[in-house]
Amino acid sequence: MRVCCGLLILTWLACPLLMPAQQSLARRLDAKEKELERLYADYWGAEYRIALGDEHASSRPAQENIRAVVIDDAFIKSLQAAHFRNRFLRRRRDLFLEEATYTKISNDPKLTGIVEEIVQRENSMRYQVGSRHLTRAELTDTLFHNPNRQTREQAWKAQAQITVANGERIRQAIRVRNELAFQSTDELFSTFMLRRKGLEAEKLFEWFESIRSQTEPEYQQLRKRIRKELNVDKVQPWDLEFFFSTLTNDFEQSHFVPDQGWTQAKQLTAQFGYYLEKLPVEMQLADLSFAGAAYPILYGRDVKILANRYSGIFFYDRLFHATGHALHYSMMDEPSFLLRANYAEPFDEGLAQVVALMLYRPEVDSELFGLSPEQARLLSDTHRLRELFDLRNTMADSLFEFEAYADPDQDLAALYNRIHSKYLGIDMHNVPVWAFNQMYGSDPIYLQSYVVGEMVARQILDTVDQRFGNSWSKRAGKFLKTNFYSRGAENTLDALMLHGTGEPLSERHLIASLRSPGATQTSAEILRDTKPSPQHTRKTTRRLSRGS
Ligand SMILES: [Zn+2]
Repeated sequence: MRVCCGLLILTWLACPLLMPAQQSLARRLDAKEKELERLYADYWGAEYRIALGDEHASSRPAQENIRAVVIDDAFIKSLQAAHFRNRFLRRRRDLFLEEATYTKISNDPKLTGIVEEIVQRENSMRYQVGSRHLTRAELTDTLFHNPNRQTREQAWKAQAQITVANGERIRQAIRVRNELAFQSTDELFSTFMLRRKGLEAEKLFEWFESIRSQTEPEYQQLRKRIRKELNVDKVQPWDLEFFFSTLTNDFEQSHFVPDQGWTQAKQLTAQFGYYLEKLPVEMQLADLSFAGAAYPILYGRDVKILANRYSGIFFYDRLFHATGHALHYSMMDEPSFLLRANYAEPFDEGLAQVVALMLYRPEVDSELFGLSPEQARLLSDTHRLRELFDLRNTMADSLFEFEAYADPDQDLAALYNRIHSKYLGIDMHNVPVWAFNQMYGSDPIYLQSYVVGEMVARQILDTVDQRFGNSWSKRAGKFLKTNFYSRGAENTLDALMLHGTGEPLSERHLIASLRSPGATQTSAEILRDTKPSPQHTRKTTRRLSRGS
């Protein structure tokens, strides 16, 4: 007890004992963070208006102002030399220095120019399929929904047209990002970014391999089912997405009505004691060129959601995901801007998924959407199959990206196809489709956060279920808020997971959720048999991409 009191007094005294020079440095850090908060509000506000179609809106002035505040060499040197005794000040100092390195790289004029060209090409691209010229959305729709297998094959192969147009530019962006990262950090851009997001490469690749190998029997079963139900000898790349579109059911459109989406989101979160009408969250439906987003204009004070006008369950999936982000941004309770804004990206993605995954829980589906037990079971099983495929696809996309940063000069098409053949068990027919993934150009080293976010969400769900039962109450909501939704960058991803769930972040909860309910091993047995992962270290992150 005495030791604890002693420590408390020391902490309390730490600020008054700062040397005058350090006091003034701490005051300048305060001022910089306040300025950044204001500029990021401008940035997100502009991005929000752009998404709504405002042609006069631009986030460039805000980005330039942010650059001017962050890249202040004299201030950076003083911060590097400072020895703060206060834990919060040390953390904020580290966050600021990392923010400065990141801004130096990502706002480099040469790189920004290349990325703009990549995005322009993508936007103006029309894909030739037979005699038709299709937009990206039309091409994707054909690949997902067209029952004619030959047309789907043409559409899939047409993806290679963007690689012809953009492939070399993306390779150039990768080289320039590496060069810039070496100038400031002595490491590859991918390594720097991953650490900034709270992860280490070695640990990440172990998780990927463990998820792949331990769900292999389920994935083989899925491939067998696709062969049988589509009546084909061999599953081809143009069969996978189409198969999932055949699984939609007759009750979907009548039970999942977009007009009622926001009311249902309010009803769901009210069960945990989160009243969206009382939180500073605003939701708007719009025609968007992306799946949907939540904008942290001002943490705790002004959060906006944009939901794309999709239909059925996919609409609800994206809306609930954005609602999860919005709950995090509006309940955030940390004492400075960088501690609020620079949370670990996979942590934030996980908190978004905690709400999205509610959609596939039978008890929620019966109560909120009036599904019968049989319908609810079908919905949850279809989601499990979809996720078996989606996660493998995302892991393969992400691994390709890391390999490309490690050696940008290699044959990228061969690399992409080799990794996808392994993860998806399909022949890619030497077609160079890799540049069709837009993230490589404009949102580098983000993909892994979706996979790790899913691990975060599954681990949190299991913890809450164990403590409060499957029907979540206000007590569960209070626990979630205290341990997760109010937390930002004060603690590492590992520390947050360890403190909130009692164990380090692990892939085993996700693997258990992907196993078939009828499998011989029960979830409890899988959890017992898969070894928990040792704790890994992390630093920090900034999320500049849309929260989708
Ligand atoms: Zn998200």
